[in-house]
Amino acid sequence: MKIKGLSRAVALALCLSLLFACGLGEEAPLAEPVDAPVSELEEWVLTPGPEGADARVLAAEEDAAPTAEPTIAPTAAPTAAPTASPEPARRGFSETEAIDTATFENVNLVHEAGFKGYLATVQGTLTLKDVLIEGKPARGVSPFKFFKLGPKGRIVVEDGAQLTADAAALCVNRGDTQKLRLTYRGKHLSGGKARWKSSNEKVVKVSKAGVLSALKKGNAVITATYRGRSVKCRVAVTNIVYVQAVEITEEKPVVSLNRTARLKARFTPAKPTNRKLTWKSSDESVAAVDENGVVTGVAVGTATITVTTDDGGKADTCLLTVKEVRPTSLNLEHRFLTMDLGTTMKTPARVLPENNSYPGLAYASSDTSVATVGKSTGIIEAKKCGVTTITVTSTWYPKAVKTCKLYVLEPGSGPMAGLIIGINPGHQKTGINKQYPMAPGSSKTGRGVGVGAGGHWTHMAEYETNLQVGLKLAKRLEDLGATVVMTRTTNDVMLTNIERAKMLNDAGVDIALQLHCDAVDDPSFHGCATYYRDNSSWVTESRDMAKLLAKGISYDTGCVNRGAKVYNGYMSLNWSTTPAVLIEMGFISNEKEDRLLASDDYRGKVADGIVRALRVYFER
Ligand SMILES: [Zn+2]
Repeated sequence: MKIKGLSRAVALALCLSLLFACGLGEEAPLAEPVDAPVSELEEWVLTPGPEGADARVLAAEEDAAPTAEPTIAPTAAPTAAPTASPEPARRGFSETEAIDTATFENVNLVHEAGFKGYLATVQGTLTLKDVLIEGKPARGVSPFKFFKLGPKGRIVVEDGAQLTADAAALCVNRGDTQKLRLTYRGKHLSGGKARWKSSNEKVVKVSKAGVLSALKKGNAVITATYRGRSVKCRVAVTNIVYVQAVEITEEKPVVSLNRTARLKARFTPAKPTNRKLTWKSSDESVAAVDENGVVTGVAVGTATITVTTDDGGKADTCLLTVKEVRPTSLNLEHRFLTMDLGTTMKTPARVLPENNSYPGLAYASSDTSVATVGKSTGIIEAKKCGVTTITVTSTWYPKAVKTCKLYVLEPGSGPMAGLIIGINPGHQKTGINKQYPMAPGSSKTGRGVGVGAGGHWTHMAEYETNLQVGLKLAKRLEDLGATVVMTRTTNDVMLTNIERAKMLNDAGVDIALQLHCDAVDDPSFHGCATYYRDNSSWVTESRDMAKLLAKGISYDTGCVNRGAKVYNGYMSLNWSTTPAVLIEMGFISNEKEDRLLASDDYRGKVADGIVRALRVYFER
C-alpha cells in the first residue's frame, strides 16, 4: 500500500495500536479503581519524555527500514486483540524513522482508504491523557476513532475521562431530597469528591456530598465538577401535595327514594394536588353513585358507598340508607305570573318537602293560544298577549292541585299591564229606592242604591269623595298600564248596586273595588277598614286583597288600619262574580278624617295606598 504525500516530510506511519502497544498496551489495561489516586490514573498516561521517545524511536528504527513512502499492510494493525499485539504496531512504527516522540503537538494524521490506522507526521510532543477508544477507556484495543484531524492539522484527542451523572434531568417535589450519583471514567465517584453548585439556591440547594434539597417550585441546574470535568443536571421542582387520607363527610347519609344527594369527601391534607376520586356502590339496585359522588335512591334499603383516591388509592366507606319520603304539600310559589310575549319560563311549582320521593308534577294551561306548558316539564311558552291559568297537579297525589294566573304581556308594557281593575265609587247623587235581591236568588231585598252619607263637618257628599278617589285611582292605574273599568265617572247616574256589579263582572275584572266612606254616630270612630264576603268562590283572593288594601291605605295616609272584615250583607259584593272588596276609606263622622277626605291631597294618598296594595297582591 502506498502512502502518499509523505515523501519529503519526516514521515511516520503511526498505527494507533502502536501507540497503545508502546505506551499502554504493555501496561495493565485500564482497570481504574473507584476514585483511583492520581498516581494510579497516570500510570497509563502516555507521556513520552525525551528518553522514552528515544527509546521508542530507537526501537522502531531497529525494525524499520527508512523509506520515503512507507507501506503498512492492512492486516497489520488495527483489529488486534485488547492486549494489542506489538507486532504490527512495531512494524508500522518501524517505518518511520523521524518520529519525534517528544514533540507530538503538531501532528499531521492522514487516513488512507483501506487502511484502518492513521498516518501522522509528528512534529511535536504527544501527550495522551484519559484516552478513550470507541468510547471506552484505552486498553490498547482497536483504536482509531479517538484521533481526528483537527482543522489545522492538529491532533485532537478525545477525552476519555468523562464525568457523568445518573440523571441529566430530574423532577423532584418540594421538600424532597435526592442524591445525584456521579460516574468518573465509568466508575462510581463519591459525591463528596466533586464540587457542587446550584444555579438557583432558592429552588434547589445542593450539599457538599451532592445531596439535592428541593426548596420551592421552580427550575435549577446542578453542576458537579471533578478534575476539570463538569456534568450538569437540570432539576425541576414541583409542588405536589399528596393525599394521605380521604374521608366521606357523612358517616350514615340518607337519600330519599327516587332522589339524588351528593356525598362529599374530605382529604387530608385538605387540598391535595390530585383530587380525583372514584365512587362505588355495593348495591346498584338500591343506590347508584356517579363519578361526582352523587347518589340516587333506587330502592328502599342500604348500600355501602366506597370512595377511593386516584392518588395513593386511599379509601373510605359509608353506609347509605335509601328511604321513602312522602310529599306533604304542593307549592306554587306565585298566584300571578307575568311573561313577555315570546319568552319561556319554568313554572315555579314544587312538591314539598324538598327531598320527597315523588316530586313529579303535571302541568296544563287553560288557554294554550295564550301560553302552552310542557305537560311534565312545566316549561311555559308565551304565545299571545292575554291571560291563562296554569294548573299544576301532583302525579303521585292527583288531588293536590294548584293554579296560577299567567298574564302574557307585550314586551315593555307598564308594570300593571294586562290587569283589569274594576272601580265602583259607591252611591250617586240620586238614590234608587226600589228593592232588589241582596244576592242572586236571595229573598232578602235592599234599596237599589243609596245616596250615601255626608261629611259631618264639611258636609262633603260621600258619593263625591268616592268618585274623586276613584278617578285618582283610575289615573294612577292606567299610568301603570292597567285597564280600568269604572262604574261611573260622574255623580249624576242612575245605577243600582246590582247593575254596577254586573258591569264589572261583564268586564272580567281581576278585582272589583267598592269605594266608600264610613259614618257613625260616635265621632271618635276613625280609620280605614275593608270588607269581603266569605261565601263566595273567591274568599281567599278577596280576603288577601282586603287585608292588603287596608294596610296600604293606612300606610300611605297614616290613618288607623281597622283591618279586613267579613260581611255578607253588601249587595255590591254579593253580586260580584270576581274577587271583590269594599273599602271604607275613613270616617266622615270624625272631624279629622272628614276634613282630610274632603282634601285633594288626602284623596290622592288613599289612591296611592290602594295602588300599593294592588301591586303587592298582583305581584307587579
Ligand atoms: Zn257608602
